[in-house]
Amino acid sequence: MKKIVIAIDGYSSCGKSTMAKELARRTGYLYIDSGAMYRCVALFCLENGLFHGEHIDTQALKQALPALKITFGLDPETKQPVTCLNGTNVENKIRTLDVSNRVSRVAALPFVRESLVGQQQAMGKGKGIVMDGRDIQTVVFPEAELKIFVTASPEVRARRRYDELRGKGQHVSFENVLQNVRERDYIDEHRKVSPLRKADDAVVLDNSDLTVDQQNEWLMEQYRRAVEDEG
Ligand code: C5P
Repeated sequence: MKKIVIAIDGYSSCGKSTMAKELARRTGYLYIDSGAMYRCVALFCLENGLFHGEHIDTQALKQALPALKITFGLDPETKQPVTCLNGTNVENKIRTLDVSNRVSRVAALPFVRESLVGQQQAMGKGKGIVMDGRDIQTVVFPEAELKIFVTASPEVRARRRYDELRGKGQHVSFENVLQNVRERDYIDEHRKVSPLRKADDAVVLDNSDLTVDQQNEWLMEQYRRAVEDEG
């Protein structure tokens, strides 16, 4: 069967990565979480004191960036994908609210995007890949055979992220999470380089009121249609 590229974009906390992982599992495709790559860069900045209030030490980041090795592996116990920075599993560290509050600023830097987009395009050369993010269908893989744009209301998304963080034992308030969701939406949609937007030929999925099973069924239908179209 012909392999395709599946590009999933949308707002933060829409459940993009859950659906992308499940789609990758069902199709046997490689799953790449592009947001995790931006989060790794933000984590590096945090751990190395490159944030000074709203300001980022871009000179220091420019110098350090080429040496940052972001890779993906499988947790031997949970069999879930994990993100590694320079060989260390940082999956939990990159999901904290500290990183979430800063990542969109890092992701708005053109030299960061250029570097990560290049790495993402190299990963998709052989097709058979599901990648999720903000600019996958517009910039990284504009020729992707299947483009999905996911959305849900800010409150629904904040509730999901809040439950996830509390489930991991992080003490956060719902208001803070909702504020973070709104702020990231704003920055992602209004930044100069590669703002979040739906590609003209993308299919839209609003999953505010869908169960996981309904969503998976819908996704597999889109996948089958896209593969058939490639014939
Ligand atoms: O997907 P996730 O919410 O983990 O992404 C974290 C942040 O990384 C987003 O809020 C966005 O600012 C940035 N991002 C991006 N382009 C992508 C993926 C993520 O700018 N392709």
